[in-house]
Amino acid sequence: MINRDRMVKEFCELVAIDSLSLKEREMADLLKTKMADLGFEVYEDDAGKKAGGNAGNLICRHKGRENVPSILFMAHMDTVVPGLGKKAIVDGDYIKSDGTTILGADDLSGVEIILEAIRSIKEDNVEHGDIEVVFSIAEELGLVGARNLDFSKINSKFGYVLDSGSKGSVVVGSPFQDVYDITVYGKASHAGVEPEKGINAIVIASEAIAGMKLGRVDEETTANVGAISGGQATNIVCDRVNIKAEARSRNEAKLIEQAEHMKQCFLDAAKKHGGNVDFKAERHYAGYKIMKDDPALKLYEEASKMAGAEVNPISMNGGSDANIMNEKGIRTLNISMGAEQYHTVNEVADIKEMIKMAGILVNIVRLVAQGGM
Ligand SMILES: [Zn+2]
Repeated sequence: MINRDRMVKEFCELVAIDSLSLKEREMADLLKTKMADLGFEVYEDDAGKKAGGNAGNLICRHKGRENVPSILFMAHMDTVVPGLGKKAIVDGDYIKSDGTTILGADDLSGVEIILEAIRSIKEDNVEHGDIEVVFSIAEELGLVGARNLDFSKINSKFGYVLDSGSKGSVVVGSPFQDVYDITVYGKASHAGVEPEKGINAIVIASEAIAGMKLGRVDEETTANVGAISGGQATNIVCDRVNIKAEARSRNEAKLIEQAEHMKQCFLDAAKKHGGNVDFKAERHYAGYKIMKDDPALKLYEEASKMAGAEVNPISMNGGSDANIMNEKGIRTLNISMGAEQYHTVNEVADIKEMIKMAGILVNIVRLVAQGGM
Protein backbone atom coordinates (compact mmCIF):
# COMPACT_ATOMS: atom_id res chain seq x y z
CA MET A 1 0.00 0.00 0.00
CA ILE A 2 1.11 3.51 -0.73
CA ASN A 3 1.88 5.11 2.61
CA ARG A 4 0.93 8.76 2.66
CA ASP A 5 2.85 9.77 5.77
CA ARG A 6 6.00 8.01 4.68
CA MET A 7 5.75 9.63 1.27
CA VAL A 8 5.19 13.15 2.58
CA LYS A 9 8.02 12.80 5.10
CA GLU A 10 10.51 11.59 2.53
CA PHE A 11 9.44 14.22 0.01
CA CYS A 12 10.12 16.93 2.62
CA GLU A 13 13.53 15.34 3.25
CA LEU A 14 14.34 15.61 -0.48
CA VAL A 15 13.11 19.21 -0.69
CA ALA A 16 15.45 20.22 2.14
CA ILE A 17 18.46 19.33 -0.01
CA ASP A 18 19.88 21.90 -2.42
CA SER A 19 20.02 20.39 -5.87
CA LEU A 20 20.48 23.04 -8.51
CA SER A 21 21.35 21.89 -12.01
CA LEU A 22 24.90 20.50 -12.19
CA LYS A 23 25.11 20.69 -8.39
CA GLU A 24 23.19 17.50 -7.63
CA ARG A 25 25.98 15.80 -5.61
CA GLU A 26 24.22 15.72 -2.24
CA MET A 27 20.92 14.59 -3.78
CA ALA A 28 22.68 11.89 -5.81
CA ASP A 29 24.46 10.57 -2.73
CA LEU A 30 21.24 10.41 -0.74
CA LEU A 31 19.38 8.66 -3.57
CA LYS A 32 22.25 6.21 -4.06
CA THR A 33 21.90 5.16 -0.43
CA LYS A 34 18.13 4.93 -0.64
CA MET A 35 18.17 2.86 -3.83
CA ALA A 36 20.86 0.52 -2.48
CA ASP A 37 18.75 0.06 0.67
CA LEU A 38 15.83 -0.86 -1.58
CA GLY A 39 17.94 -3.61 -3.16
CA PHE A 40 18.98 -1.80 -6.32
CA GLU A 41 22.33 -2.04 -7.99
CA VAL A 42 23.35 1.59 -8.51
CA TYR A 43 25.65 2.95 -11.17
CA GLU A 44 26.59 6.58 -11.61
CA ASP A 45 27.57 7.53 -15.15
CA ASP A 46 29.99 10.25 -16.21
CA ALA A 47 27.38 12.73 -17.50
CA GLY A 48 28.40 15.16 -14.75
CA LYS A 49 32.00 15.12 -15.91
CA LYS A 50 30.94 15.69 -19.52
CA ALA A 51 28.56 18.51 -18.64
CA GLY A 52 30.63 20.23 -15.97
CA GLY A 53 28.55 19.10 -13.00
CA ASN A 54 29.43 17.49 -9.68
CA ALA A 55 27.26 14.36 -10.06
CA GLY A 56 26.28 11.97 -12.84
CA ASN A 57 22.99 10.33 -13.72
CA LEU A 58 22.06 7.45 -11.43
CA ILE A 59 21.14 4.25 -13.24
CA CYS A 60 19.63 1.75 -10.82
CA ARG A 61 18.52 -1.81 -11.48
CA HIS A 62 16.49 -4.26 -9.42
CA LYS A 63 16.51 -7.80 -10.71
CA GLY A 64 13.11 -9.39 -11.10
CA ARG A 65 11.49 -12.46 -12.56
CA GLU A 66 12.94 -13.65 -15.84
CA ASN A 67 10.97 -13.49 -19.09
CA VAL A 68 9.22 -10.34 -17.93
CA PRO A 69 10.13 -7.19 -19.90
CA SER A 70 12.33 -4.73 -18.05
CA ILE A 71 10.64 -1.43 -17.26
CA LEU A 72 12.16 2.01 -16.76
CA PHE A 73 11.04 4.83 -14.45
CA MET A 74 12.77 8.17 -14.62
CA ALA A 75 12.77 11.58 -12.90
CA HIS A 76 15.30 14.39 -12.74
CA MET A 77 17.20 15.35 -9.60
CA ASP A 78 17.86 18.99 -10.40
CA THR A 79 15.64 21.94 -9.57
CA VAL A 80 15.43 25.50 -10.94
CA VAL A 81 16.24 28.80 -9.19
CA PRO A 82 15.56 30.26 -6.68
CA GLY A 83 16.20 26.84 -5.20
CA LEU A 84 18.69 27.20 -2.34
CA GLY A 85 17.45 26.61 1.22
CA LYS A 86 14.08 25.20 0.18
CA LYS A 87 11.66 24.39 2.98
CA ALA A 88 8.62 22.16 2.53
CA ILE A 89 5.46 23.24 4.34
CA VAL A 90 2.63 20.72 4.50
CA ASP A 91 -0.73 22.41 4.16
CA GLY A 92 -3.63 19.96 4.04
CA ASP A 93 -3.39 18.00 0.81
CA TYR A 94 -0.68 20.24 -0.57
CA ILE A 95 2.95 20.94 0.13
CA LYS A 96 4.36 24.39 -0.59
CA SER A 97 7.56 26.35 -0.07
CA ASP A 98 7.90 29.26 2.36
CA GLY A 99 7.40 31.61 -0.59
CA THR A 100 11.03 32.68 -0.98
CA THR A 101 12.11 29.74 -3.15
CA ILE A 102 10.59 27.23 -5.51
CA LEU A 103 9.51 24.00 -3.83
CA GLY A 104 11.32 21.68 -6.20
CA ALA A 105 8.32 19.41 -6.69
CA ASP A 106 9.52 19.61 -10.29
CA ASP A 107 10.88 17.04 -10.21
CA LEU A 108 11.38 15.82 -6.64
CA SER A 109 7.75 14.75 -6.48
CA GLY A 110 8.55 12.56 -9.49
CA VAL A 111 11.54 11.15 -7.61
CA GLU A 112 9.40 10.55 -4.53
CA ILE A 113 6.57 8.89 -6.49
CA ILE A 114 9.11 6.37 -7.81
CA LEU A 115 10.65 5.76 -4.36
CA GLU A 116 7.28 5.20 -2.68
CA ALA A 117 6.04 2.96 -5.52
CA ILE A 118 9.11 0.73 -5.15
CA ARG A 119 8.78 0.60 -1.37
CA SER A 120 5.18 -0.42 -1.75
CA ILE A 121 6.05 -3.07 -4.37
CA LYS A 122 8.61 -4.60 -2.00
CA GLU A 123 6.38 -4.41 1.04
CA ASP A 124 3.46 -6.10 -0.70
CA ASN A 125 5.64 -8.61 -2.58
CA VAL A 126 4.23 -7.46 -5.90
CA GLU A 127 5.54 -9.69 -8.65
CA HIS A 128 7.83 -7.85 -11.02
CA GLY A 129 10.43 -8.18 -13.74
CA ASP A 130 13.57 -6.07 -13.84
CA ILE A 131 12.93 -2.50 -12.74
CA GLU A 132 15.31 0.19 -13.90
CA VAL A 133 15.27 3.66 -12.38
CA VAL A 134 17.14 6.62 -13.80
CA PHE A 135 17.57 9.81 -11.79
CA SER A 136 18.97 12.32 -14.23
CA ILE A 137 20.93 15.52 -13.74
CA ALA A 138 20.54 18.95 -15.35
CA GLU A 139 17.21 18.36 -17.08
CA GLU A 140 16.35 22.00 -16.55
CA LEU A 141 19.38 23.16 -18.54
CA GLY A 142 17.99 21.50 -21.66
CA LEU A 143 17.89 17.73 -20.99
CA VAL A 144 21.65 17.78 -20.42
CA GLY A 145 21.74 14.68 -18.21
CA ALA A 146 19.60 12.57 -20.55
CA ARG A 147 21.68 13.73 -23.50
CA ASN A 148 24.82 12.40 -21.79
CA LEU A 149 23.21 9.31 -20.31
CA ASP A 150 25.17 6.06 -20.57
CA PHE A 151 22.62 4.16 -22.65
CA SER A 152 24.80 1.04 -22.67
CA LYS A 153 23.64 0.52 -19.07
CA ILE A 154 19.91 0.61 -19.92
CA ASN A 155 18.12 -2.61 -20.87
CA SER A 156 14.50 -1.43 -20.88
CA LYS A 157 12.72 -0.93 -24.17
CA PHE A 158 9.99 1.23 -22.65
CA GLY A 159 9.37 3.39 -19.64
CA TYR A 160 7.80 6.38 -17.95
CA VAL A 161 9.25 9.76 -17.05
CA LEU A 162 7.45 11.48 -14.19
CA ASP A 163 7.79 15.12 -15.17
CA SER A 164 4.49 16.42 -16.52
CA GLY A 165 2.56 19.17 -14.75
CA SER A 166 -1.12 18.50 -15.39
CA LYS A 167 -3.17 16.09 -13.31
CA GLY A 168 -3.38 12.55 -14.65
CA SER A 169 -1.53 13.70 -17.70
CA VAL A 170 0.30 11.61 -20.21
CA VAL A 171 2.13 13.54 -22.90
CA VAL A 172 1.20 12.11 -26.28
CA GLY A 173 2.70 14.90 -28.37
CA SER A 174 5.90 16.79 -27.76
CA PRO A 175 7.62 19.23 -30.12
CA PHE A 176 10.83 19.23 -32.07
CA GLN A 177 12.98 22.11 -30.91
CA ASP A 178 15.70 24.03 -32.74
CA VAL A 179 17.99 26.68 -31.28
CA TYR A 180 19.52 29.43 -33.41
CA ASP A 181 22.70 31.35 -32.89
CA ILE A 182 22.74 34.29 -35.28
CA THR A 183 25.49 36.80 -35.80
CA VAL A 184 24.84 39.90 -37.88
CA TYR A 185 27.89 41.64 -39.28
CA GLY A 186 27.90 45.31 -40.27
CA LYS A 187 30.81 47.68 -40.56
CA ALA A 188 32.23 49.97 -37.88
CA SER A 189 32.92 53.63 -38.45
CA HIS A 190 32.87 56.86 -36.45
CA ALA A 191 29.24 57.69 -35.85
CA GLY A 192 29.80 61.45 -35.98
CA VAL A 193 32.65 61.90 -38.45
CA GLU A 194 31.77 59.43 -41.21
CA PRO A 195 28.58 57.53 -40.43
CA GLU A 196 27.93 56.85 -44.14
CA LYS A 197 30.94 54.52 -44.19
CA GLY A 198 29.43 52.30 -41.51
CA ILE A 199 26.85 49.53 -41.69
CA ASN A 200 24.85 49.24 -38.51
CA ALA A 201 24.35 45.63 -37.42
CA ILE A 202 21.75 46.71 -34.85
CA VAL A 203 19.63 48.25 -37.59
CA ILE A 204 19.87 45.07 -39.67
CA ALA A 205 18.93 42.88 -36.70
CA SER A 206 16.04 45.18 -35.73
CA GLU A 207 14.56 45.15 -39.22
CA ALA A 208 14.93 41.40 -39.49
CA ILE A 209 13.28 40.72 -36.14
CA ALA A 210 10.51 43.29 -36.66
CA GLY A 211 9.41 41.44 -39.79
CA MET A 212 9.53 37.99 -38.26
CA LYS A 213 6.67 35.66 -37.33
CA LEU A 214 7.29 35.08 -33.62
CA GLY A 215 5.34 33.96 -30.55
CA ARG A 216 2.58 31.47 -31.33
CA VAL A 217 3.09 30.96 -35.03
CA ASP A 218 0.29 28.39 -35.32
CA GLU A 219 -1.33 25.87 -33.01
CA GLU A 220 1.67 23.54 -33.04
CA THR A 221 4.52 25.98 -33.65
CA THR A 222 6.14 28.70 -31.52
CA ALA A 223 9.20 30.89 -31.99
CA ASN A 224 11.11 33.32 -29.82
CA VAL A 225 14.04 35.69 -29.93
CA GLY A 226 15.40 35.35 -26.41
CA ALA A 227 18.62 37.30 -26.18
CA ILE A 228 20.47 39.97 -28.11
CA SER A 229 23.87 41.50 -27.51
CA GLY A 230 26.31 43.72 -29.31
CA GLY A 231 27.65 47.19 -29.78
CA GLN A 232 30.38 49.11 -27.99
CA ALA A 233 29.70 52.83 -27.72
CA THR A 234 27.32 55.53 -28.92
CA ASN A 235 29.94 57.02 -31.23
CA ILE A 236 30.69 53.78 -33.10
CA VAL A 237 28.42 52.39 -35.82
CA CYS A 238 27.78 48.89 -34.50
CA ASP A 239 29.51 46.22 -36.57
CA ARG A 240 28.31 43.07 -34.84
CA VAL A 241 25.21 41.77 -33.05
CA ASN A 242 24.56 38.29 -31.70
CA ILE A 243 21.04 36.93 -31.34
CA LYS A 244 19.86 33.77 -29.59
CA ALA A 245 16.52 32.40 -30.72
CA GLU A 246 14.52 29.21 -30.81
CA ALA A 247 11.52 27.62 -32.47
CA ARG A 248 9.45 24.56 -31.63
CA SER A 249 6.85 22.61 -33.50
CA ARG A 250 5.14 19.28 -33.12
CA ASN A 251 5.33 19.17 -36.91
CA GLU A 252 8.90 18.81 -38.13
CA ALA A 253 8.16 20.21 -41.61
CA LYS A 254 6.71 23.37 -40.05
CA LEU A 255 9.79 23.75 -37.87
CA ILE A 256 12.05 23.60 -40.91
CA GLU A 257 9.81 26.19 -42.60
CA GLN A 258 9.98 28.47 -39.56
CA ALA A 259 13.79 28.25 -39.45
CA GLU A 260 13.96 29.13 -43.15
CA HIS A 261 11.65 32.08 -42.59
CA MET A 262 13.71 33.45 -39.71
CA LYS A 263 16.94 33.01 -41.65
CA GLN A 264 15.44 34.73 -44.69
CA CYS A 265 14.38 37.76 -42.62
CA PHE A 266 18.01 38.23 -41.53
CA LEU A 267 19.38 37.69 -45.03
CA ASP A 268 16.95 40.17 -46.57
CA ALA A 269 17.72 42.87 -44.01
CA ALA A 270 21.47 42.26 -44.33
CA LYS A 271 21.29 42.46 -48.11
CA LYS A 272 19.38 45.73 -47.98
CA HIS A 273 22.09 47.37 -45.85
CA GLY A 274 25.14 45.58 -47.23
CA GLY A 275 25.88 43.49 -44.14
CA ASN A 276 26.30 39.78 -43.57
CA VAL A 277 24.63 37.09 -41.50
CA ASP A 278 25.81 33.85 -40.00
CA PHE A 279 22.75 31.78 -39.08
CA LYS A 280 23.56 28.63 -37.11
CA ALA A 281 20.69 26.22 -36.45
CA GLU A 282 20.92 23.23 -34.15
CA ARG A 283 18.34 20.54 -33.41
CA HIS A 284 17.95 20.73 -29.65
CA TYR A 285 15.76 17.65 -29.40
CA ALA A 286 13.42 15.61 -31.53
CA GLY A 287 9.68 15.54 -30.93
CA TYR A 288 7.45 12.53 -30.66
CA LYS A 289 3.88 11.47 -31.12
CA ILE A 290 2.37 8.59 -29.17
CA MET A 291 -0.34 6.76 -31.14
CA LYS A 292 -3.58 5.68 -29.49
CA ASP A 293 -2.69 1.99 -29.79
CA ASP A 294 0.84 2.39 -28.40
CA PRO A 295 1.42 -0.49 -25.92
CA ALA A 296 3.06 1.78 -23.31
CA LEU A 297 0.07 4.14 -23.49
CA LYS A 298 -2.40 1.25 -23.27
CA LEU A 299 -0.54 -0.03 -20.22
CA TYR A 300 -0.69 3.38 -18.57
CA GLU A 301 -4.42 3.61 -19.30
CA GLU A 302 -5.05 0.15 -17.86
CA ALA A 303 -2.97 0.92 -14.75
CA SER A 304 -4.88 4.19 -14.26
CA LYS A 305 -8.22 2.42 -14.63
CA MET A 306 -7.20 -0.04 -11.91
CA ALA A 307 -6.47 2.96 -9.68
CA GLY A 308 -9.81 4.53 -10.55
CA ALA A 309 -7.92 7.44 -12.07
CA GLU A 310 -8.72 9.46 -15.13
CA VAL A 311 -6.24 9.66 -17.99
CA ASN A 312 -5.59 13.10 -19.41
CA PRO A 313 -3.68 12.88 -22.73
CA ILE A 314 -2.01 16.18 -23.56
CA SER A 315 0.19 17.64 -26.25
CA MET A 316 2.72 20.04 -24.87
CA ASN A 317 5.07 22.53 -26.35
CA GLY A 318 7.99 21.69 -24.13
CA GLY A 319 10.50 18.91 -23.98
CA SER A 320 11.41 16.50 -21.19
CA ASP A 321 13.90 13.68 -20.73
CA ALA A 322 11.30 11.55 -22.54
CA ASN A 323 12.24 13.29 -25.82
CA ILE A 324 15.80 12.02 -25.56
CA MET A 325 14.72 8.53 -24.48
CA ASN A 326 12.33 8.25 -27.44
CA GLU A 327 15.01 9.54 -29.77
CA LYS A 328 17.24 6.71 -28.52
CA GLY A 329 14.56 4.14 -29.23
CA ILE A 330 13.27 3.63 -25.69
CA ARG A 331 9.50 4.20 -25.90
CA THR A 332 9.00 6.62 -23.00
CA LEU A 333 5.88 8.42 -21.88
CA ASN A 334 6.01 11.56 -19.77
CA ILE A 335 3.37 11.32 -17.03
CA SER A 336 2.14 13.46 -14.15
CA MET A 337 4.51 14.35 -11.31
CA GLY A 338 1.84 15.95 -9.15
CA ALA A 339 3.32 19.45 -9.18
CA GLU A 340 1.54 22.69 -9.98
CA GLN A 341 2.83 26.19 -10.76
CA TYR A 342 6.32 24.81 -11.07
CA HIS A 343 9.22 27.15 -11.83
CA THR A 344 7.61 29.74 -9.52
CA VAL A 345 7.79 30.39 -5.78
CA ASN A 346 4.09 29.43 -5.64
CA GLU A 347 4.90 25.88 -6.68
CA VAL A 348 2.94 23.19 -4.84
CA ALA A 349 3.01 19.42 -4.67
CA ASP A 350 -0.40 17.75 -4.73
CA ILE A 351 -0.21 14.91 -2.20
CA LYS A 352 -3.30 13.11 -3.49
CA GLU A 353 -1.97 13.20 -7.03
CA MET A 354 1.40 11.85 -5.87
CA ILE A 355 -0.30 8.97 -4.03
CA LYS A 356 -2.39 8.22 -7.08
CA MET A 357 0.62 8.26 -9.40
CA ALA A 358 2.63 5.97 -7.09
CA GLY A 359 -0.31 3.56 -7.14
CA ILE A 360 -0.37 3.69 -10.93
CA LEU A 361 3.34 2.83 -11.09
CA VAL A 362 2.72 -0.19 -8.87
CA ASN A 363 -0.13 -1.24 -11.18
CA ILE A 364 2.10 -0.85 -14.23
CA VAL A 365 4.73 -3.13 -12.68
CA ARG A 366 2.05 -5.64 -11.70
CA LEU A 367 0.47 -5.65 -15.18
CA VAL A 368 3.83 -6.13 -16.89
CA ALA A 369 4.59 -9.13 -14.67
CA GLN A 370 1.19 -10.55 -15.61
CA GLY A 371 2.13 -10.36 -19.28
CA GLY A 372 0.47 -7.02 -20.02
CA MET A 373 3.31 -5.72 -22.18
ZN1 LIG B 1 10.87 18.95 -14.66
